[in-house]
Amino acid sequence: MNTIPHLINGERHHSTTTLEVHNPSTGQVCGLLGMGDESLVAEAVAAAKAAFPAWRDTPPAKRARVMFRFKQLLEERADDICALISEEHGKTLEDARGELQRGIENVEYACGVPELLKGDYTRNVGPSIDAWSDFQPLGVVAGITPFNFPAMVPLWMYPMAIACGNCFILKPSEKDPSASLLIAQLLEEAGLPKGVMGVVHGGKPVVDALLSHADVKAVSFVGSTPVAEYIYAQGTANGKRVQALGGAKNHAVLMPDADLDNAVSALMGAAYGSCGERCMAISVAVCVGDEVADALIARLEPQIRALKIGPGTQSGLDMGPVISREHLAKIEGYINAGVEQGAALTVDGRDLRVPGHEGGYFLGGCLFDRVTPEMSIYREEIFGPVLCVVRVDSLEAAIELINAHEYGNGTCIFTRDGEAARLFGDEIEVGMVGINVPLPVPVSYHSFGGWKRSLFGDLSAYGPDSVRFYTRRKTITQKWPERASHQASDFAFPSM
Ligand code: NAD
Repeated sequence: MNTIPHLINGERHHSTTTLEVHNPSTGQVCGLLGMGDESLVAEAVAAAKAAFPAWRDTPPAKRARVMFRFKQLLEERADDICALISEEHGKTLEDARGELQRGIENVEYACGVPELLKGDYTRNVGPSIDAWSDFQPLGVVAGITPFNFPAMVPLWMYPMAIACGNCFILKPSEKDPSASLLIAQLLEEAGLPKGVMGVVHGGKPVVDALLSHADVKAVSFVGSTPVAEYIYAQGTANGKRVQALGGAKNHAVLMPDADLDNAVSALMGAAYGSCGERCMAISVAVCVGDEVADALIARLEPQIRALKIGPGTQSGLDMGPVISREHLAKIEGYINAGVEQGAALTVDGRDLRVPGHEGGYFLGGCLFDRVTPEMSIYREEIFGPVLCVVRVDSLEAAIELINAHEYGNGTCIFTRDGEAARLFGDEIEVGMVGINVPLPVPVSYHSFGGWKRSLFGDLSAYGPDSVRFYTRRKTITQKWPERASHQASDFAFPSM
């Protein structure tokens, strides 16, 4: 079996130390990943640093042209990319196409970089003095990404970083690395000069080497909260700019006046799509009143039992397997804990068998009723196909519950009442809010970021914030001596 290589200075680099990559639908090994180390990171950073001056000085319009070609190649190779995603991650092909499309939209936004980098100019800020500010790239920047969106999350980062004139090193998830490697190769085919983009695979040693390397100026991270917090602390202590997006527990509030049929359809996709392995997945339904809760559960139960589950590469399915045997055991541990702690498991997906795929990491959809805030299934991110119903008696109580949670990534409310929706939008302490929209993932020209322990750092991912994250402002104040004039020294602080 071939090893999956690193990409350094335009060359494939094979490591002798490898890690098995599994197909979660079968449990079989489908690849061997070369694992990088500190010296390989040093090599990749050196190549990127050498490529930086010429790339920084390439006009933004020319950098944008690479992005236009890259977008076209991503569309042409979409089937190959989605097949790799589905094989290594397990998500359905339809879901992989959705992820790739959202990634491509970030490339489209990066195509507008000449406009996005335009600075400000003021003539005559003083006598014959002009000033301007512009946004200059940082140098070598790095991205560390999670398993659950192997194409989209890296595409949140490097198209804009590179379009802004930086060089980029990606450390993809070691669980499903092949799609991000293929995509990086397409960027080369699109005409990106050697060294501007590098891919180094590996685990914590590679991450630590990036965090401590003096020539890495900024780090973008997406993953779980404990690692996000670590990356933020280490990276900032080493003087780097860091944005670290973490985990989530996303609540959907159902008001008594909600259009319940539409809310149920929306919740099914938002809770069980991608097996619940999305940072914006809805994992808690907060029902305002027992009547709403009973009606919701009555509608959800048959639909959860009818979920079509199988290998992601088979078309027409709702859900594939979860990412790994360890993750399956972790989710089952949460389900057992929920039962022990007194929640009512009204749909139990634990004994699912997919004929012909007995070695796969499959789990059926699960539904818990009567979940309370002290339970671990409520407090912690399960990251699986498990929806918890919490009953409250007012919108205010729902808002209080959500605001007390440590995470603040996404949330939504289902209602026909504009006043309730407005109050919710104003009072809720969560970064991304949907009104009758279950997965309010911002489009590429808005930015993506949670609040509280879902994001460490000041700037969100992609959109306008990413232009700020991957550049720094420089302000130049300029005066040319007027002909035949001489100015005496002035020792007071300059003012008008
Ligand atoms: P993870 O934190 O285990 O891994 C993310 C990355 O960090 C990987 O590249 C991994 O190799 C690396 N890593 C893991 N442990 C490390 C350590 N101890 N030190 C240094 N690096 C380490 O996350 P995951 O399981 O791949 O992804 C799922 C998590 O990501 C969930 O918590 C999910 O909510 C979160 N996520 C968040 C967002 C968001 O935008 N907020 C988006 C997608 C996923």
